Amino acid sequence: MSEQVQERVVVEIPIFLSVRQLAELMDISPIVVIKELMNAGVMAHINQQIDYETGAIVAEELGFDPREETPALDEAFAEGGPTLLWERLYADEDPAKLKARPPVVTILGHVDHGKTSLLDAIRDTEVQAGEAGGITQHIGAYQIDYDGRVITCLDTPGHEAFTAMRARGAHTTDIAVLVVAADDGVMPQTVEAINHARAAQVPIIVALNKMDLDRAQTERVKQELADRGLVPDDWGGTTLCVPVSARTKMGLDDLLEAVVLVADSTEIVANPDRTAVGSVLEGRLERTLGATATLLVQNGTLRTGDVVVTGLVSGRVRRMLTPSKQSIEEAGPSTPVMILGLSGVPEAGRMFQVVADTRTGRAMVAMREDELAARSVAPTRAFTLDDFSSRIQAGQTKELNLIVKTDVQGSIEPIVGSLEGLGDEDLKVNLIHAAAGNITESDVNLAIASRAIIVGFQVRPDTAGRRHAETGGVDIRTYDVIYKLVDEVDKALKGLLEPVYRDVVIGEAEILATFNIPRVGAIAGCRIRTGVARRNARARVLRRGEQLYDGHVASLKRFDQDVREVRSGFECGMGLVDFRNFEVGDIIQLYVKELEEAE
Ligand code: GDP
Repeated sequence: MSEQVQERVVVEIPIFLSVRQLAELMDISPIVVIKELMNAGVMAHINQQIDYETGAIVAEELGFDPREETPALDEAFAEGGPTLLWERLYADEDPAKLKARPPVVTILGHVDHGKTSLLDAIRDTEVQAGEAGGITQHIGAYQIDYDGRVITCLDTPGHEAFTAMRARGAHTTDIAVLVVAADDGVMPQTVEAINHARAAQVPIIVALNKMDLDRAQTERVKQELADRGLVPDDWGGTTLCVPVSARTKMGLDDLLEAVVLVADSTEIVANPDRTAVGSVLEGRLERTLGATATLLVQNGTLRTGDVVVTGLVSGRVRRMLTPSKQSIEEAGPSTPVMILGLSGVPEAGRMFQVVADTRTGRAMVAMREDELAARSVAPTRAFTLDDFSSRIQAGQTKELNLIVKTDVQGSIEPIVGSLEGLGDEDLKVNLIHAAAGNITESDVNLAIASRAIIVGFQVRPDTAGRRHAETGGVDIRTYDVIYKLVDEVDKALKGLLEPVYRDVVIGEAEILATFNIPRVGAIAGCRIRTGVARRNARARVLRRGEQLYDGHVASLKRFDQDVREVRSGFECGMGLVDFRNFEVGDIIQLYVKELEEAE
């Protein structure tokens, strides 16, 4: 039997927000949010900053459907600002406290066009910020001082790394430098890089590299760029195109000048006078130092002694090192630092935040561990075509983000043409990326980062792509007939695709005793016979095989403690929403709704 699940109210949560903001988004009292955090052991006051993950757990606990807020691409571009990054990161910041910070640059481009050479050339020719030369180590980023202006360069080039970071939540880059070898021109990965940077709403500067070669064909390459919507400034467009040579170091100053120019025309700001938040660029286990992490501070100032939480890792910062291994005490916005003192190796691309004390740090990690355990039984689907369809119905979205992969180049045109003709003014397909080739891990990361669905025409995901899509919850639809592909997207746009759910029983509890607690109501004292009981699960009451009730768990306690989960063999007290008529011997069956796979 399949049925439509009652939609939970969606709350769109920015990647960082205050407790007050979260409460406002859900239209409930901040006290409720603070209590929910306290239940999990996190001591937070009303102006405390929390990250998306924490906010989402609280929202889910309170019966909402949390989504990470992503501004629609169209809106972002229409407002003239190619990047709304700071708005997302600094959502709750008093504009008066925002100060300019160094731009963070990532180098993208086709293989062998000179990304690594350019990164090295920039690092070597320019004075390292705040240091007199010295041997530097690659820690994921470095800073240079160009004419009194600090620029931060991420030193893992390529859009795969860039988008993998984004898929995990990090929005680190302010400006993308697209390297195009002038003797080779726009190649498939150049196109991918352009689309990945655009999807991230990051402005692009083109570095026309290898200009030292006689066979450099500047005009031809500029034409190819213009064909992709990057019209060079000297052709009347808005894309800065700077001829350089990583080999002879020609043009590097012009390139950095262009970075400063773009930085000045974009709002690249932060509030240095607050506790730090940012992203993990790299995590490593070093034989002599233990767990190390390179963090990019994105807002606030990080200090030694601060307690950092990221993903399932926390700890007090014992030491901070610059890329040239100098110890520092403070790191302001846009500064990359290697830190020592974490309890484990954090995952690159994760956000980090500073919390009040080690106890809160550990509590936040414990809360996330619980959440992960709960998810391992009922995987959450990131974003599916059916999901999109019901969001359209509910008026919650206006755009369907799509990534199209086809068997041959020739199929792209007719498919994209048909898809772009679908929908109307208000509802449309937004094509993030279209290319020939298998569906890869990089496509899946782009889909996660952009809330997109991947449609394949006569192609399939490769092994890494499929595995990543399964864990990341990305919907991949493959078709062998163009008409079917277009028809299904059309239906989704019209809100006609109905998601189909099935019930999955996760555990059974037997009632051993019943209690009536003043102001709380009826509580069943149970033993979990099989599986688990979860506070966010659905429940049915069965008496001699007959179903008396179908609803939700209201409370779950072990002794006096609220718990998220009780496993088989343990006893607990359970309350159900709107049900009091428990009897000893009744069975409470706990279940979750899972999306039926599309055929
Ligand atoms: P990546 O794959 O984009 O990181 O490219 P690399 O930086 O590894 O460079 C690929 C090749 O191009 C190497 O052999 C470099 O020496 C060469 N190369 C890079 N930049 C230049 C340049 O400006 N001029 C010339 N002639 N060769 C370059």
